Amino acid sequence: MEEIEQVREGWRDKAKKVAKNVVAPRAAEIDEKGEFAWDLVEEYSKHGFLSLLIPKEYGGMDADITSFCIVAEELAKVCASSALLVIVQAVGTMPVVLGGANDLKERVLPRLANEKGLICFCLTEPESGSDAASVRAKAVLKGDHYIINGRKCFITNGGVADFYTVFATTQPDKRLEGITGFLVEKGTPGLSIGKTEEKMGIRGSNTTEVILEDVRVPISQRIGDEGAAWWQMMRTLNRSRPAIGAQAVGLAQGALDYLIGIRREKGWTRKKEDGTGAPFMLADMATQIEAARALVYKTANMMDEKAKGTPVQMFSAMSKYFASDVAMKVTTDAVQILQWQGLTKNHPVERMMRDAKVIQIFEGTNQIQRMVVAHTLLKSKST
Ligand SMILES: Cc1cc2nc3c(=O)[nH]c(=O)nc-3n(C[C@H](O)[C@H](O)[C@H](O)COP(=O)(O)OP(=O)(O)OC[C@H]3O[C@@H](n4cnc5c(N)ncnc54)[C@H](O)[C@@H]3O)c2cc1C
Repeated sequence: MEEIEQVREGWRDKAKKVAKNVVAPRAAEIDEKGEFAWDLVEEYSKHGFLSLLIPKEYGGMDADITSFCIVAEELAKVCASSALLVIVQAVGTMPVVLGGANDLKERVLPRLANEKGLICFCLTEPESGSDAASVRAKAVLKGDHYIINGRKCFITNGGVADFYTVFATTQPDKRLEGITGFLVEKGTPGLSIGKTEEKMGIRGSNTTEVILEDVRVPISQRIGDEGAAWWQMMRTLNRSRPAIGAQAVGLAQGALDYLIGIRREKGWTRKKEDGTGAPFMLADMATQIEAARALVYKTANMMDEKAKGTPVQMFSAMSKYFASDVAMKVTTDAVQILQWQGLTKNHPVERMMRDAKVIQIFEGTNQIQRMVVAHTLLKSKST
């Protein structure tokens, strides 16, 4: 047990250092320019942040979910966009790790782990967001290849990835059970990038359309069996949603730390704020952040323990929505406390507030997470 704790604290130390020395000085600029930070790819890769959930045998770090969350939290304290890079890499990779054939793993995972390869997760379509069962991208088997046609949107890393984990239907009448995952390499004829989104927050993350027109993919690049994608996606999201929760916790903590820092340094903008509830708002922020952190790491621990019968899907959903709602509240209050100054670029809290809004939406909206929780509660047998 002590050994696991040491490993986790090792990840925390590393992520803290990278956050402080490399990410923090770039955070405002990354947001301002809305540019993908290639220098961070270099840095993250050096520290193993881009291969956290890849098994050792393929050159990865084999980190547990708790360590994954720790890295996401520490990076997000200074820049939520930059934390997302680590999470998305894991999200794109997990279907291959969980469901790919050995041959596919051997071809792809070492390139992600050792060659700074980037990967993205292509599920959402213009007509299929929350309702993933209505995926319209189609993959049709012709001889030893599939021909894929479809249009994906809001894909994180879409314009910068080397590999695309693409979900398409192979049997539309089967709905969820008819969806299959494929690994498509950058440069494959017919794969192109459409519009790049200009977002209000998480601006350092590249978000694009991904267009597939008669893309030929060999059977060997199918991820697992036909129709196995739903299971792969759910297991992937169970692992990534606590990390998104950790990203939100980090973001909220970053805002609180900033306020405490300037309060200690020079007081609020005006002395009278101490009498107008600002200290109580700080107390509420700290309390909400601790509650969110406890939920996130309880969930991560559940995933790591792999105890049978634990409702991990429900806890993953709870972590994602509770922590991102806390981040929204904390960052909004942080802007409120700083009043008109909080609205300006003189303080990072306005960026943090914009970033929090995005976290409430991606990786399944917070309404959908509530549906997952409610559904689990209602279907479980009474105790
Ligand atoms: C910055 C960013 C990055 C993203 N990255 C990726 C990525 O890498 N890969 C990827 O595949 N997708 C990605 N997405 C897409 C994201 O996961 C979807 O936006 C999200 O799942 C919601 O889908 P939608 O936008 O189509 O909204 P819709 O599904 O159209 O929903 C619209 C609204 O209706 C609500 N709603 C929908 N259904 C129900 C229901 N049954 N009951 C109650 N309310 C409901 C939703 O909560 C939402 O408020 C990203 C999105 C963003 C913003």
